[in-house]
Order: sequence, then structure tokens, then C-alpha cells
Amino acid sequence: MPQRLRILFVSSEVEPFAKTGGLADVSGALPKALVGLGHDVRLLMPKYRGVERHAGSLTTAIPQLRVPIADRRSEGALLEGRMGSHVPVYFLANDHYYDRDSLYTTPDGDYWDNCERFIFFCRATVEAVRGLGWQPHVIHVNDWQTGLIPVYLETLYRDDPVCAEIATLFTVHNLAYQGVFWHYDMPMTGFGWDFFTPAGIEFYGKINFLKGGLVFADLLNTVSRAYAREIQTPEAGSGLEGVLQERSEDLYGVVNGIDYEVWNPATDPEIPKRYTAEDLEGKRSSKASLREELGLRDEPGPLIGMVTRLAEQKGIDLVLAALPELLALGCQLVLLGSGDPHLEQAFAEAAERHQGQVAVRLGYDAGLARRIYAGADCFLMPSRYEPCGLGQLISLRYGTVPVVRWTGGLADTVKEFDPIAGTGTGFGFEAFSAPALTGAVRRAVVVYREPERWRQLARNGMAEDFSWEASAREYVTLYRKALKKKNRRGE
Ligand code: ADP
Repeated sequence: MPQRLRILFVSSEVEPFAKTGGLADVSGALPKALVGLGHDVRLLMPKYRGVERHAGSLTTAIPQLRVPIADRRSEGALLEGRMGSHVPVYFLANDHYYDRDSLYTTPDGDYWDNCERFIFFCRATVEAVRGLGWQPHVIHVNDWQTGLIPVYLETLYRDDPVCAEIATLFTVHNLAYQGVFWHYDMPMTGFGWDFFTPAGIEFYGKINFLKGGLVFADLLNTVSRAYAREIQTPEAGSGLEGVLQERSEDLYGVVNGIDYEVWNPATDPEIPKRYTAEDLEGKRSSKASLREELGLRDEPGPLIGMVTRLAEQKGIDLVLAALPELLALGCQLVLLGSGDPHLEQAFAEAAERHQGQVAVRLGYDAGLARRIYAGADCFLMPSRYEPCGLGQLISLRYGTVPVVRWTGGLADTVKEFDPIAGTGTGFGFEAFSAPALTGAVRRAVVVYREPERWRQLARNGMAEDFSWEASAREYVTLYRKALKKKNRRGE
């Protein structure tokens, strides 16, 4: 087994190049941490519009990639740039597919040709690997957009001398997004109809990219241990629980980290007065500035922050239902988010109704997000389900006490505070209900009234280590396991 692994990390989204969610954060941070451990890691993603702004000058790695799509050929090229100073990034260029306003959707719904766009992405990735002159030991694929890569490697490219030795790890960042398309698109994949079966990539009469990854990759993981268990049940399995149960021996959970240099209250340029666990004074003044910025009154109660997509997954409806109780407890609320128009409107109305106590900012605002992480006392994540969640990790780092629903990664990374022992990092609740949420906030408010105890609780969170290094080591272990498995099969 080689000491230094060659890893090709394939993802549709990578921060800072293109992002719609947490997948981009992981894809931007994990490869750097792996390089830090001494491995040869390269990224591959589509060349979406504008990526070159962050990639330095691009060179051509493969001038022409020809990919069969049904009875046609689509052409692309592989360009090479960098992420930071250490990680090479390959951009798969095909302007017809990727030079668009957004990654997946128009205001009227998904792009009509997403199936073709990501068949091309998957197959061109495999073609690129054949032509690159750099043979990865492992291809690490992520989420549905990459789900067909393991299928290609195990079928059409099975006997290819380069591809035959490559092991795959498939990471599911969110099982709910599966890349499901109608069966008429099947011929574009190049797989015969014999793969359009329940044992292949068929799913209730349609093509399912995510399922392809789950069935054909050597090893699987999700982004927390709890979520890895939950998705094997009908409640959280999104119809794929059977497939996941069948592969439960190959299914692992590795919790995400955050970049501790990027997220650091001692150096964050966005926050008015920086602070450390030893000296939390800056956090108090960050709260005062944040209230001023948002037009919130100066009151003795805690300020609850939320920075979130406004989507059903995030349990936002509970917050609306619990709002009168939360305000009666003396809390204030600031929410920064965007998404579902109904939720946006409901929160805008709540802010209107409770001026001075509730502030709502709709849209995406990285600077305000940081000022909320720094200035809020608590950070609320009442998710229906949560594969890992980054918000609670950032809040722990900023001494902002998470109040979470015990699900997925939230259950794995936050521990209930025990006021007697002084241990724990936050507050949680089990039942998906407004009274349960209110109960957890009430416990937080009780502790908040004792400033010394609250500081202890905030410091407990700041002392946790959710930096990427530990998780990157776990990924290396999985890469080696995947390679062993692949080698055993090849013998
Ligand atoms: P998900 O990937 O499901 O949206 P995560 O908690 O894993 O949720 O990651 C969300 C990330 O995006 C966090 O870093 C969060 O701070 C950030 N974020 C979400 N909404 C906004 C917003 N409106 N403005 C700024 N940052 C946001």
C-alpha cells in the first residue's frame, strides 16, 4: 500500500469557485487538509461561468475530450488551475452545458437537460482520467452529480488498464437530492437496458444517479455517524433505505470539519471586535453592534441567531410556530436566509410585527453571517434532518451556544449542557415540535441568566476541535480500505 495516495476529488461544487450548499464547503476544505497530511490530491469540477475569477490563469491539460452521448459525441476540454497555492483543480469545460447563469436551476425550475449535463460530467471525468497521465489510486466522488462515475468504472471501463485499478469512495452529503430523471434518457448514459433494473440504476421507473453511486462504489460514507444510521430507516432513507441496508457493512460516517483559519473569531475581519475564549469582551461588543445594525432593542435576554437556507429540511416552520413563546421568554431573534418564498414572506411579516425583537434579512450575505455567528448568544438549528450541518460547528467555534434538534450531525457534534457538572456545549430536543424547541430554549435562557455559567458553556464549545485534520485522517483510512477492497476483487 503506497504511503502517499493519489486522490482525485470530484465534486460539482467547490468553494470558492461555485457553491449552492455545504457540499462546496467540504470540497473546498477537505482536499486542502488531505494535502496537509502529505497526499497528492487534485480536484475536478465543471467549468461553470466565472470560476476563472478564483483559479489563477488556466492552462490546458487535455485539449479535446470526446464523450459519447447516445449516438452523438459531445466535446469538451480539461483545463487546469489552482485552489490556493497547493491544490491543482481540473475544470471540465463545455460552455454549452456549464456556461450558464446558475448551477442547476432557472427561476422556473431545473434546467431541462440536467441529466445530459451530468452524464457528460461523469463520463468525461472517466475519459479525462484515462488521458491525464496521472493515475489516481482513489476517485472520491460526491453526491448525485457524480453518482454515475463508479458505474462507468465498473461497467463500460472495467477492462480499461488505467480504470481497472482505481478504487472509489462515494460520499453522500444529502440523501434527499438524488438526480432522478425519466427513463427516456437512459440511452444517453451508454449503459444497456440491463442496468435499468432495481439492482442497477432504476428507481421507481426512473434513472437515479445517486443510487448508481450507492450500488457501484467500493465504499460509501455520509457526513456523520448518526445520519449514516438514520438513512437506513424508512423515515430518513428517501426510498433508498433498502439499498443502504444491503451495503451497511461498507457504509461509514465521517463528520465534516470547518476550516479553523477561515472561521476564527480572533482574526475574522468582518466582526467589529475580535475575541478569544480567554477574553470574551469582544463578543459582547459584537452583540451590541449587531443589535444596532439590525435595529434590535437593548434588552437583557439572549439573542438567537439563524443563518440558513429557508427550506423544509431546516425545520423553519417550528421556529414560526414557537416564536410567540420564544419572545415571551425574553429572547430576540435574527434570521439571515433565503429560499422558499412562503417562508421568506412569513419571516418578513414576523419582523414587521415584532420590530425591535425580531430582525430578518432575506438573501445571501457572507459578512452578515459572520457578524451573526459572532454577535448572537445562541444559534438555532431545529432541522427535520441534518446530514452534518456546518452552522453549529461555526457557532461552537465562535462561542455561540447551539440549540439543535437531535438529528444527524447535530446529534453527533453538540452535547447537552449539564449545569451541575459544567460539561456539554449546547441544548437539544428530540421531538419535532414547537413545544420541544421551546423547552430547549427555556433551558438555555435559565443558564443565560447566570453569566459566569454561560461563559463556561461558551468556552466548552470553543474548546471543541472540529477542524478538518481529524476528519481528513478518517478519510485516508477509508481510501485505504476502498483500495484493499478493490485489490481483493481484482485478484
Ligand atoms: P446546508 O448545506 O444544508 O445548506 P449547512 O449548515 O451544512 O447547511 O451549511 C450551510 C452553510 O451556508 C453555512 O456555512 C452557513 O453559514 C451558510 N449560509 C446559509 N445560508 C446563508 C445566507 N443566507 N447567507 C450567508 N451564508 C449562508
